[in-house]
Amino acid sequence: MDDRERLQYLQAMGIDVWVPRDAVAEQPAAAEQGAEDGPGATRVDRPPADDGDTVMQAWRQLEQEVAGCRLCPLAETRTQTVFGTGNRNADWMLIGEAPGQNEDQKGKPFVGKAGLLLTEMLRSLNLGREEVFIANILKCRPPDNRDPRADEVAACQPYLQRQIALIRPKIILAVGRVAAQQLLKTDAPLAKLRGKVHYLEEIPVVVVYHPAYLLRSPLEKRKAWSDLQMAERIYRDLQD
Ligand code: SF4
Repeated sequence: MDDRERLQYLQAMGIDVWVPRDAVAEQPAAAEQGAEDGPGATRVDRPPADDGDTVMQAWRQLEQEVAGCRLCPLAETRTQTVFGTGNRNADWMLIGEAPGQNEDQKGKPFVGKAGLLLTEMLRSLNLGREEVFIANILKCRPPDNRDPRADEVAACQPYLQRQIALIRPKIILAVGRVAAQQLLKTDAPLAKLRGKVHYLEEIPVVVVYHPAYLLRSPLEKRKAWSDLQMAERIYRDLQD
């Protein structure tokens, strides 16, 4: 993607591209940041490197388990489970909170207007949706889009842990407050969680605003852009 195209994507996100770089200097450099995650943060037990057939079989098994899952009451109200989509060998994994109405209908995460904005956010990082893997903490929609309950998260979390273990992403974006709090097992508000790097085991986790929130609060898009830039820097540093 050339600079002109990138500029167009940023403009589509509603980001003022003339904002001076200093505007993001309030954020500490990744190297200076420490992990501040709760003691019960989501565990990722990475399996040893495995052959392709075994990995494919593990994905199939996981998909079947999720599709037929009735481990929590959300099975009664969902239209269908939303497993997650994208590249199963992705360097970047995005984790949201739970399917909403559109996702419940389509069976895919982040569709509708918020999904379009998420796509633009990714494109500003030179990433297409097909290059990343997108999943949620919960695989079924909570009624009326309420926050996930602790029992639902506890029941569903092993599926996400298995997805992370299979993908082995280099970096995770926790999309929105609820996803960040559940993933990192903390009650800290999003304002305290963003702008620094957290870790799930050794995988860096960057907390970003939920695109649905950004649609309601367009003034926060500058901060969202600086969070994405920080994630990009961390990812780049990992390549060195
Ligand atoms: S939310 Fe998760 S644990 Fe609950 S029924 Fe759906 S897949 Fe199963």
